[in-house]
Amino acid sequence: MSFAALGLSPPLVAAIAERGYETPTPIQAKAIPAILAGRDLVAAAQTGTGKTAGFVLPMLERLARGPRPQANQARALILAPTRELATQIHDSVVAYGRHLPLRAAAVYGGVKINPQMMALRRGVDILVATPGRLLDLHASNAIRFNHLEILVLDEADRMLDLGFLPDIERILALLPARRQSLLFSATFPDTVRSLARLIARNPLEFSVDPRNAAASTVKHWIHPVDKKRKTALFTTLLRERRWNRVLVFTKTREGADKLARHLESEGFSAAAIHGDKSQDARGKALAEFKQGLLQVLVATDLAARGLDIDQLPQVVNFDLPKVAADYVHRVGRTGRAGASGQAVSLVSADEFPLLSAIEQLLGNLLPRKLIDGFEPVHDVPESKPVHRPLKPKKPKKPKPRPGGERPAAESRAGGRRSDGKPRAGQQRTGGRPAPSRKPTARKR
Ligand code: AMP
Repeated sequence: MSFAALGLSPPLVAAIAERGYETPTPIQAKAIPAILAGRDLVAAAQTGTGKTAGFVLPMLERLARGPRPQANQARALILAPTRELATQIHDSVVAYGRHLPLRAAAVYGGVKINPQMMALRRGVDILVATPGRLLDLHASNAIRFNHLEILVLDEADRMLDLGFLPDIERILALLPARRQSLLFSATFPDTVRSLARLIARNPLEFSVDPRNAAASTVKHWIHPVDKKRKTALFTTLLRERRWNRVLVFTKTREGADKLARHLESEGFSAAAIHGDKSQDARGKALAEFKQGLLQVLVATDLAARGLDIDQLPQVVNFDLPKVAADYVHRVGRTGRAGASGQAVSLVSADEFPLLSAIEQLLGNLLPRKLIDGFEPVHDVPESKPVHRPLKPKKPKKPKPRPGGERPAAESRAGGRRSDGKPRAGQQRTGGRPAPSRKPTARKR
């Protein structure tokens, strides 16, 4: 299937070809015709699936057919949780719309408001915004929504996690009731479902990946390790595995700074991005990382949210996230648009409850691999079996198990035996990791 066959006109098809996209991703194949037809949409889609183009392209197509924006008016509004994501979506709008006479702007906090007010004076076709700054601009009469045609809520789950619901409700009250509404979210807790019901009318609903599952092209596993040895293990892996571009997540801003400083002292090029850093510092670190000038980017969840970094093969969870859904978001940084990636988590015994929550969310147990010399003194307890909703399935013919493959029950065994040796399921690896295997589905 081609982009033209989905109903996009030559200026957009040309811009897509210039970006090097050959065929639409599954979400694009579903979303583009529906949005062009004017439908509301509620989609379960994580970053890495091509969702940005999935909504930006048909929006540009529809907006190009309509009247030009009036002063201080926006024809389409895209709400995003962070400045980084807003900038990234804006960049996509500019790239895909380069052959169309449309105007776009991005507004977010942490930078001066005046240039943003100036950018809105003539009106914009597409405005990408974080909620707080948008409300400030509205309060100063810099933006109006009388002619708003399309609303997009991107990464809705994250917006709610960050406490943006009151701001979103205030914004919704400013918008015309007659509009097209699109909502994208990686996960669908009840709060997101309620929000979807509030904003969308008779929406087309679909999911491009299994609910709450991490990108299927990503291989992930954990290395059990004692907390105080994480830095040494990470540095060892960085050297031995020759990771040349790695995004590392820490739980706290202090942790991110500390790790980046340590890596620099060890001769690696590293920088940290988090909420205490200025927008300029964050932008600079990200740009250098994207250009391959920085080997390691250490980030907290908020700062890294939605980052689109081409060809990022390696994500490391130095600490597990406090919220299980953030694991999916973090891992979504790699394995994007069909590329393969790896996500490695360094897990200490005290993080076991977080690990369990992640495994329950994924519906999979994460394979465990011990690294020689870093076997933990404090064992990470054995994982609990995962509970997944059972779908009725046709009975399959039993397949002979290939030689050497271990039964699932073993592969989820944690800790060590009383004789101090690793259990059968724990792989000991000093060198390259073996490919991970999905645990077999449980019958209930
Ligand atoms: P997203 O899920 O929107 O963050 O996009 C993830 C990545 O996929 C971005 O780097 C896009 O440039 C890329 N991408 C989007 N659509 C396609 C496509 N049809 N073919 C190849 N890459 C794509």
